[in-house]
Amino acid sequence: MIQEQSLYFSIFGGYIYEANKEEEKTLDAFQIPLIKKPSASCNKCNGRFHVGFNLEQKHFVICTKCSKKFIDVQKILSKKSAKR
Ligand SMILES: [Zn+2]
Repeated sequence: MIQEQSLYFSIFGGYIYEANKEEEKTLDAFQIPLIKKPSASCNKCNGRFHVGFNLEQKHFVICTKCSKKFIDVQKILSKKSAKR
């Protein structure tokens, strides 16, 4: 079965949401694609994927532990190369 919805994390909103293929095309670089929902047992973020809000930079700070496991790096790379 083809998965139509993809998970994203908004670093300005601080939440995880689902986007379909059409919506994905309009997303900017501040929407982080995720492979799957971060584990709620993470002792740093408890599955929220962020560890707090950075007041100076005005965005949420991504959990370093989960970023290695759950960010869809392939998706980021393919999106960048498609623009060239
Ligand atoms: Zn985490």
